[in-house]
Amino acid sequence: KETGKARCVVYSPRQEGSAPEHDISLEAAMFQAVREGEFLLYYQPIVDAHTREILGFETLMRWKHPTLGMVPPVRFIPIAETNGLINLLGAWALKAACVQLKQFEEVAKRSLYISVNISPRQFRNDKFLDVLDDAIAYSGLDGAQLVLEITEGTLMIDPVHAEAILSKMTERKARIAIDDFGTGYSSLAYLKRFPISVLKIDRTFIRDLPASQKDGAICNAVLDLAKHLDLSVVAEGVETEEQLHYLEQRGCQRIQGYLTGKPMPANVAMAALKESTYA
Ligand code: C2E
Ligand code: CA
Ligand code: CA
Ligand code: CA
Repeated sequence: KETGKARCVVYSPRQEGSAPEHDISLEAAMFQAVREGEFLLYYQPIVDAHTREILGFETLMRWKHPTLGMVPPVRFIPIAETNGLINLLGAWALKAACVQLKQFEEVAKRSLYISVNISPRQFRNDKFLDVLDDAIAYSGLDGAQLVLEITEGTLMIDPVHAEAILSKMTERKARIAIDDFGTGYSSLAYLKRFPISVLKIDRTFIRDLPASQKDGAICNAVLDLAKHLDLSVVAEGVETEEQLHYLEQRGCQRIQGYLTGKPMPANVAMAALKESTYA
């Protein structure tokens, strides 16, 4: 119901308050899934709000289990975060996404960027910078084409460590996006302290636009803040023309959501790029 619209959403009966034994079997299945190569990457377009041209993609992980079907990331990412498997999965995703971007660019015949989610545990892992360097070197990508999405929470666990890692990331020209911006409970002071380039407005602030005055005020404030801090903004979860129009009118330059493209397999993304190239 939360998502609104007549959309078919499949919930596992024990998604909420799931029994521990259920999680354990899912966890066991995850190790098997890694061996069997059941994890894949989907790509969701991030588009120019005005022209709707694809500027880049966010990489979203999927788990295609032979009998359970598609297991949503909200179910398996927290488990991977707890048992550490996220380091392995995240390293694979980062490298594969960088390689995929090269292929996207060949099809599009222009420069694009790739945005990759980095979990708190991954961010704090000793090997993370090596993983990043490996992904950049192996793919031949320019670091500037890479955006790493982290949450406010990830920065706040250990701000001193975060500062060191972020400066190393910017040395590699990778940009930092704050994911789910506005949903954490940290002060805005971190925007001053850390080298951040992108704010991603959480979709909970977009969902009830344009009707909700409060959400409108929040979006306006974020856009204004970003403008003055010279940050770019991506509005997440844009599902309607009205939402896009509202945001565009207020200076939001980048949009991501079902309206302009759902997360899709790489071959579908390539077809979309081809179409936009010859249009
Ligand atoms: P997120 O990073 O905030 O990703 C955006 C989520 O919103 C995605 O859900 C995407 O499919 C969904 N979404 C995009 N547009 C719309 C829209 O218009 N309407 C609605 N209702 N939803 C939309 P998804 O793919 O299920 O991923 C959920 C979360 O799982 C992500 O939230 C992220 O926190 C995590 N996740 C996914 N892939 C990865 C990954 O490779 N690594 C890590 N660490 N986390 C990941
Ligand atoms: Ca994200
Ligand atoms: Ca997000
Ligand atoms: Ca989220």
